[in-house]
Amino acid sequence: MSADDESAGFDPDLIRANITAVKSRIAAACEASGRDPQSVRLLLATKTQPPGPVRVAIEAGETLVAENRVQEVRPKYEALEDLEYERHFIGNLQSNKINALIPYVSCIQTLDRISLANKLQKKLEAEGRQMDVLLQANTSAEDSKSGVVPGDLASFAAKVAELDALRVRGLMTIGLFTDDLELARPSLARLRELRDQVRELNLDGIRMDELSMGMSGDLEVAVEEGSTMVRVGSAIFGARKA
Ligand SMILES: *Cc1c(COP(=O)(O)O)cnc(C)c1O
Repeated sequence: MSADDESAGFDPDLIRANITAVKSRIAAACEASGRDPQSVRLLLATKTQPPGPVRVAIEAGETLVAENRVQEVRPKYEALEDLEYERHFIGNLQSNKINALIPYVSCIQTLDRISLANKLQKKLEAEGRQMDVLLQANTSAEDSKSGVVPGDLASFAAKVAELDALRVRGLMTIGLFTDDLELARPSLARLRELRDQVRELNLDGIRMDELSMGMSGDLEVAVEEGSTMVRVGSAIFGARKA
């Protein structure tokens, strides 16, 4: 460990060991449910982490990183500009922050209202660009969470499908927060059911390949229920800073 890393308060070896441990958990869950481990990607949820630990993870071979807060996106992008990796956004997005976000990310996973979709469409269209998006569903019935309520998801998908700058790739949810994983399971299974329901609509211009679900505490259940992307923060980087 260099003096710099120590003063920044993180241990690169621990981060690398944590990544290995998380990957073993993903692999074990895939094995238990008869899935190919290659079918689940690990996304690093790096909110509140400074660039240093994120750099360690990318240099260890990770390629997918996501932020929650628009104000953290550009500084980390700039600090890690020499590295190749994919950047997603997984936080609540206010329309007035679109301009500060979209130059730096290739996918917004938290699209949950048509007003936001329309604004993104307009901005991207003006720039002659497209952007991948996931539709966020609120599958846990917790009022505090963002996301489209399940009953409205199919019609929301149909509306977003008409916006040609937005490439819908799948769905995202945050599972029920609980220590009892069996209580979280239905909120994760629900996302897969919603995906199947939207697939049956055969909407032009959208794909339903991705299910972004599972975090440090519930990734095994999420993988068993069909996750293609687990979003892991604290199990790799430790507790969040303020
Ligand atoms: C913070 C966060 C995660 C990661 O949570 P951990 O429990 O730290 O793994 C995943 N998804 C979203 C949307 C988050 O905000």
